[in-house]
Amino acid sequence: MAVIGIEPPSPLYEHEHALFRESFRAFLTQEVVPHAAAWERDGIVPRELFLKAGEHGFLGMAVPEELGGAGAADFRFNAVISEEATYAGVASATMGLTLQNDVCLPYFLEHADDEQRRRWLPGIASGELVTAIAMTEPGAGSDLQGMQARAVHDGDSYILNGSKTFITNGIHADLVIVVAKTNPAAGARGLSLLVVERGMDGFQRGRNLEKIGQHAQDTAELFFNDVRVPAANLLGQEGMGFVYLVSHLAQERMSIAVGGLAAAEAAIAWTVDHVRARNAFGRPIGSFQHPRFVLAECRTEVAVTRAFVEQCLRRLVAGTLSGEEAAMAKWWCSELQGRVIDRCLQLFGGYGYMLEYPIARAYADARVTRIYGGANEIMKEIIGRSMGLGDR
Ligand SMILES: Cc1cc2nc3c(=O)[nH]c(=O)nc-3n(C[C@H](O)[C@H](O)[C@H](O)COP(=O)(O)OP(=O)(O)OC[C@H]3O[C@@H](n4cnc5c(N)ncnc54)[C@H](O)[C@@H]3O)c2cc1C
Repeated sequence: MAVIGIEPPSPLYEHEHALFRESFRAFLTQEVVPHAAAWERDGIVPRELFLKAGEHGFLGMAVPEELGGAGAADFRFNAVISEEATYAGVASATMGLTLQNDVCLPYFLEHADDEQRRRWLPGIASGELVTAIAMTEPGAGSDLQGMQARAVHDGDSYILNGSKTFITNGIHADLVIVVAKTNPAAGARGLSLLVVERGMDGFQRGRNLEKIGQHAQDTAELFFNDVRVPAANLLGQEGMGFVYLVSHLAQERMSIAVGGLAAAEAAIAWTVDHVRARNAFGRPIGSFQHPRFVLAECRTEVAVTRAFVEQCLRRLVAGTLSGEEAAMAKWWCSELQGRVIDRCLQLFGGYGYMLEYPIARAYADARVTRIYGGANEIMKEIIGRSMGLGDR
């Protein structure tokens, strides 16, 4: 594959990240790439993938060593996983691992009490426990405060009722962080996080939803009918759910940004290879000015974006990344991903429309990144409001 993007190694990454990258690449080659097409057809990866990833140290890197992790709270390791899976054209197969590491784990690491940490973190790191986070409901996505899920105190438990949709890892999840209203009158201060476990009475999964892309990733509806959730499964403090969500959404958005940028880098590399090899009118397509200019423009946009993303990643690792910077990265990278992949796909001609080509799958996989993790319009609201430009 043509060399674009992070090679030769970017200054963001150090020796230990390079070793981790090498070993994750080998894992992908052995355990994921040969099966990815079958998993895309199945609409789900096997559970064993989580166990294998855990066994090889690709889950819960940030979990302390004494609880089964690597004690490596450094998001650059997470970024390496996203980049490598994307370059290998199998990001949809590893999306569940990424969700566990990048999105769900921080809630357990920061808000679980000692007993919960002992109960859950070892399984999250080993892959015995698959996690999901359920915010979105059929009637409320962008407007989280409009959610209906309700948890009412009953002795030393909560009784949870409601339904969630579009939940990544929804079919596989053993632990679902459910966002529910514990005090509907308190607005943003009335949301709490409850961990619902596989097998609790009244917890049911709906369909594994059929999507345009990301076919190997399970995305499901979840239903909660009078589920008795022990108070011992409350994550953090009651009423603090919204505050926790806001604090962790920045990392979720960086995860989407890193994946989007890597997808654009991969698309350029695949396309450079293609236009060099494919002939039309007696010469390689890449020798015509138009394809050359398209790829030159894409490469420049990607290189400029990488500089900003790496700056954001450094701040994320240092704990100084702001919510609006993460929103900028998520908005920009997901738009870039769509734009670059679309332009590259055109240069593949009819082959670009065939799902056996990674560029076609990348095209279908990309569309959702402008929607999930907060729609890009919401990202612009966050950025605009940070400039003092609110309604009130
Ligand atoms: C594949 C996939 C996986 C997902 N995984 C998860 C998951 O694991 N957990 C989870 O909780 N959710 C998940 N989601 C849900 C996702 O986060 C929501 O779809 C997203 O936040 C948008 O919410 P919505 O679909 O309800 O759209 P709506 O809120 O109905 O918004 C629709 C559109 O209206 C516009 N809009 C809305 N509000 C505004 C505004 N204030 N200003 C301007 N325009 C606005 C935007 O264009 C937006 O795209 C997933 C979704 C998909 C498709």
